Amino acid sequence: MADECDVLIIGAGPAGLMLGCWLARTGVKTRIIDRRASKITRGHADGVQCRTIEIFQSFGMADRIEKEGNELAEVVFYNPDQDGNLVPTSRIPDTEPNTSRFRHRVLNQGRIEDFLIDCMKTGGLTVERSISPLSLELSDSTTENHPVTVKVQHLIPVEEASDPSSGLYRSNILSDEEFNRSASKGGKIESIKAKYVVGCDGARSWTRNQLGFSLEGDSANIYWGVMDARPITDLPDVRVKVVLHSADSGSLLIVPREQNLVRFYIQMGTLQPGEKLDASAQSPEKIIESARKILAPYTLECPEVQWWSVYEIGQRLCKDVSFRNRVFLAGDAFHTHSPKGGQGMNVSMMDSYNLGWKLAACAKGIASPSILDTYGGERVEVARELIEFDHKVSRLFSGKPAVAESEGVSMEEFQALWIRMGKWTSGTAVKYDPSLVMTESTAAKTELAKNIIVGSHFESHMVVCYADAHAVQFADRLVADGRWRLIVFAGDLGRPNQLQRFNDFCSRLTNAHDSPIKKYTPPDADLNSVIEVLTLTSSPRKALSYSAFPELARPFVGRFRYPTYDQIFSDELSYLDGGGEAYSGYGVDPNGPGCVVIVRPDQHVADVLGFEGCVEKSGRFFDGFMMHV
Ligand code: FAD
Repeated sequence: MADECDVLIIGAGPAGLMLGCWLARTGVKTRIIDRRASKITRGHADGVQCRTIEIFQSFGMADRIEKEGNELAEVVFYNPDQDGNLVPTSRIPDTEPNTSRFRHRVLNQGRIEDFLIDCMKTGGLTVERSISPLSLELSDSTTENHPVTVKVQHLIPVEEASDPSSGLYRSNILSDEEFNRSASKGGKIESIKAKYVVGCDGARSWTRNQLGFSLEGDSANIYWGVMDARPITDLPDVRVKVVLHSADSGSLLIVPREQNLVRFYIQMGTLQPGEKLDASAQSPEKIIESARKILAPYTLECPEVQWWSVYEIGQRLCKDVSFRNRVFLAGDAFHTHSPKGGQGMNVSMMDSYNLGWKLAACAKGIASPSILDTYGGERVEVARELIEFDHKVSRLFSGKPAVAESEGVSMEEFQALWIRMGKWTSGTAVKYDPSLVMTESTAAKTELAKNIIVGSHFESHMVVCYADAHAVQFADRLVADGRWRLIVFAGDLGRPNQLQRFNDFCSRLTNAHDSPIKKYTPPDADLNSVIEVLTLTSSPRKALSYSAFPELARPFVGRFRYPTYDQIFSDELSYLDGGGEAYSGYGVDPNGPGCVVIVRPDQHVADVLGFEGCVEKSGRFFDGFMMHV
């Protein structure tokens, strides 16, 4: 008898684990399998973007990255001067001011995966290791509840794929055959039937191959080495990020890591078209030797190398990411690029952050499967931008700099690109286009909230919780639990007129037959269980007593009808932690008519509406995809 689940995730890297977090949190019956016997502990990705930390915060675990990750404060560019000597030419902040409430950090991928695994566990989901898929079939039946069947084999590990200090087995210079050789031998075979299957199985994705999809793109015929070490060097800037072009010996990127480790990316050589790099000829000594040449006259000793690898630069994209809205690809399974931009792990997790709430809603029958079309529409575009960025940066990074009158890459052009892309590389610039779950941006919406951009994520400002006077980051209330939010900028409730408007609006949202809350909240469920209303007043707490707010703003929940205390906030100065600038930060007039912002479960702003007509308009928006349970 085949085991049944709602979602089967193949691959427990960052993309698979992030998806697992969503599904575990939302109570979706899920299995997550990985062919490796153990997770990685060293090396691989290490850059964690601001937006990724915001997402971790939505699962309540940003503090773990903040505590263990090293904050990157500065980037220094080293270039050859007129005589070819390496000199620092400029310094910029690594995270642009006001990008996010979090800052760019670095921490090894293994720890990031640990946090995700712990988060999944709180929802009862664990990774099943040493399991490899053998076949995938999708039934043509439209009535079958679990139409995808994946036959899997439990593996008996023969030995670990390689020495943990070598990342060659994950590098793109090894073929599939070489990669598979030592992995394991087969054991028990099992069939799993699922409503949905997601291939998060990395750059060599088995799932992608089953679907007959392919990665398209090119390779630059340039190879780089990467290593983690505690270096001994007279380069004075080894504890900040260094972007270095030497006159003749290639380029290098230095990223200071946690526990005084340093990640080096080192340009090593070029290949002839069609030439394959000999993996067996690579070694940490060779990488260090290349680094020394580039850094000279600065010295470099690395008595211990914790992890190293060699990879060939290339950018590839698979334009198809779903098959009949039943089988999906996420992460490196549909986009690969060079690691230096520090993007892959972040973008991979964001793919599944985008997919997770949609799959959960469909698996539970809350939303129409047509919302799944928006996954590819939204994420392929981001992957395309990532690849374009990586293509440009990689080529400028690997190019010989123009020194004195010589031809080459302009260092000014390279730095300008780096700076221009700062917001994008922080992950905060992603903006989704209009779709079933995203409305169009208009001048009228911008007029209501000048700094809230339809399509972008809802940014954070400090506000004060009405009930307990705590200062809180507003976006911290956008917890990843699958609920939509209506954020009501209520305005100045000290003015009787505005209070009346607000009360009328809440009353319609609670009672009108066309209100999305009325329509899509099951009759016996809590008022905030599908769509949660968060209210932000511009008036101070003393202007109106907490108990004077309508029930919609402070619903009573659970079997015992407990009161809620965390849905109403005011924009005022807190006792100890600042605040009082949220209305101006969001660009909403504190003395104006107010407005309502519809925020998706993944924190992206889907619409901005005035009070008048909001119930009907938001009702029509939700009617486009919500289903009655
Ligand atoms: P993967 O991490 O590749 O995970 C895929 C998982 O699927 C693995 O656990 C694998 O065992 C499993 N799997 C594969 N095939 C099967 C199968 N047939 N059956 C079952 N399981 C399977 N990104 C950043 O964001 N920031 C960085 O600073 C950064 N630096 C990097 C440095 C290096 C040296 C490298 C190599 C990469 C770096 N990246 C970085 C990229 C990042 O590591 C990847 O983009 C990211 O790991 C992709 O996540 P994923 O979950 O899609 O795939």
